[in-house]
Amino acid sequence: MLMPPFELYLPVSITAACEKAAELLAGGFEFDWIAGGTDLIPNYKWHINSKPHVISLANIDGLDSISMTEVGCMARLHDISESTEAHPLVASAAGKVASSLIRRNATIGGNLCLDTRCFWFNQSEEWRSSIDWCHKCDCGTGADCRVIPNQNDLCVATYQGDLAPALMVLDATVHLIGPNGPRKMPLVDFYRLDGMTKNVLEKGEFLLKVTFSADVSQMVGSYQKLRVRESWDFPEAGVAAAWVKGDRETLKVATTALESIPRRHDEQVEQAEGDIKQLAQLIFKAVKPVNNTSLPPRYRRNMIKVLVKRACSE
Ligand SMILES: Cc1cc2nc3c(=O)[nH]c(=O)nc-3n(C[C@H](O)[C@H](O)[C@H](O)COP(=O)(O)OP(=O)(O)OC[C@H]3O[C@@H](n4cnc5c(N)ncnc54)[C@H](O)[C@@H]3O)c2cc1C
Ligand code: SF4
Repeated sequence: MLMPPFELYLPVSITAACEKAAELLAGGFEFDWIAGGTDLIPNYKWHINSKPHVISLANIDGLDSISMTEVGCMARLHDISESTEAHPLVASAAGKVASSLIRRNATIGGNLCLDTRCFWFNQSEEWRSSIDWCHKCDCGTGADCRVIPNQNDLCVATYQGDLAPALMVLDATVHLIGPNGPRKMPLVDFYRLDGMTKNVLEKGEFLLKVTFSADVSQMVGSYQKLRVRESWDFPEAGVAAAWVKGDRETLKVATTALESIPRRHDEQVEQAEGDIKQLAQLIFKAVKPVNNTSLPPRYRRNMIKVLVKRACSE
């Protein structure tokens, strides 16, 4: 559990952060961004893909904005959950992450960029060594994936962040910035179906903020989460739904913790034509959780039907 040594940088502006990233990349050095550190630090203590350099976003002023139409990457989940300015669905999903202590440090940026999880991987170094590692952190051994063996192209570790589905159904846009300048995209296009690559962030880029259109305040919704212990566990399945008040045609539904990415189910919503039972069945068919979190995939998949109905009926 000893933290591996790393060099920590604390830039005080976005420009300085991008310059430090560019400098490290030019020198051929690997680094991680750190925000609240509630996921990165435990991973480092377990020697999971730690890097020799870490750039913190904590000393940059102005990254913690919270309003109906914008949330900065360093906004703490506790502050979002207590905010009367944030969209109620975002506040409610933020309040369901981990425990109250963790939410005081945890940020929305870190939540959206959360590493994927797998019980063959989120273990101490000794434990992973005893099973001769796995593909995602193979320590140069070329070890196989333990969940889907004999392929080693794809890691199917599970994305278990709570906020992404809630933001997806509100049509959130993510703003990225790095040495090559800023860019933005809908959150639904941010993730990559690979437990190792995870998302479209390029080397040196970080997630700056999340924005919503001005009419997001017209939307209502719900986030439903299945977890082992209500007090702090990661989602074993999660379903968010949102719609414009009084207009069923605008329904959007997204899931988390069932695959390597959170996913919005536009196709299934269209096919179901407003029939929630049918929609639950279609989403049940669309997702294929694998056996790498605490609860069995069959149970998690079956629970989708319940969570979809609860999210839509609320
Ligand atoms: C006991 C426990 C329970 C937890 N339960 C939950 C849960 O129920 N639901 C849940 O969603 N999460 C849970 N988590 C995970 C974590 O606490 C949260 O996801 C949190 O929001 C992560 O934010 P952070 O600021 O601490 O991220 P960090 O740990 O600082 O970073 C997480 C990852 O994101 C990257 N990163 C951080 N900020 C940025 C950025 N702005 N741009 C680009 N990359 C960035 C880091 O490099 C790192 O890879 C839990 C953690 C623990 C320890
Ligand atoms: S899905 Fe496979 S490669 Fe990915 S972390 Fe799990 S065992 Fe490792």
